[in-house]
Amino acid sequence: MRFDVVTLFPEIVSKIFSFGVTGRALVKGLIEIKTWNPRNYSNNATNRVDDKPYSGGPGMVMQVEPLMKAIKAIKDDVSSQTHVIYMSAQGKSLNQQKIKELSILPRITIISGRYEGIDQRVIDRGIDEEISIGDFIASGGELPAMILMDSVTRVLEGVLGHDDSTAEESFENGLLEYPHYTRPNKSKYGEVPSVLLSGNSKDIERWKLKMSLAKTLLVRPDLLKGRLFSSLEKELLNEIKDEEKY
Ligand code: SAH
Repeated sequence: MRFDVVTLFPEIVSKIFSFGVTGRALVKGLIEIKTWNPRNYSNNATNRVDDKPYSGGPGMVMQVEPLMKAIKAIKDDVSSQTHVIYMSAQGKSLNQQKIKELSILPRITIISGRYEGIDQRVIDRGIDEEISIGDFIASGGELPAMILMDSVTRVLEGVLGHDDSTAEESFENGLLEYPHYTRPNKSKYGEVPSVLLSGNSKDIERWKLKMSLAKTLLVRPDLLKGRLFSSLEKELLNEIKDEEKY
């Protein structure tokens, strides 16, 4: 996967690829990243890329020309198609399904906005879609872009050590993941649920599913809407309701 990121702050974006899963993916050559600074495509001596909004009001807007030139430069850089995303609070909300869809593309270009955002003509003419990381406003598109790249990278084949590492995670089966415990099994902060020490894999699987259902019911009941529950899931939901714990 190749990521091209248009940003006024390339240093921020490249940092994430020095650490952990994304860092290793880069070293292994499973991903490539290139940053493009719109200042290099500015047509004035001071390299300015922003100006006041015609609508009046506070803040500055990133200009159309430098951004469109940067996008063109990216498209000219290599021949294969690139999918152009603008990170924007006004986009569709990012979710794991979208991450999966993006992960099968060969190349993704991400525009990171700053100030009040970017000239609408870039959105109309230069990009394929707007994506939001949630209903709140960040001060720039770099962190949202990094979240998107990080999440896409970890689902790429060969990135996580174990092929099944993502299979049980939250959202994979429409549920939040069950809780995790590690050693020690007894601590002054509590004990590990005994079923996990039982060695009985069937009981453990049942416990995991029950915990997933309980957590989802408690925190994200919206995820359960329209779900076709298996008979085991129905049984577990009844148990959960009976226990009145949640
Ligand atoms: N005036 C804009 C917000 C600008 S914030 C509005 O009301 O929608 C500056 C930049 O941060 C944006 O151009 C966008 O690239 C990025 N950004 C802010 N919040 C974001 C979010 N929730 N998701 C993705 N990008 C976001």
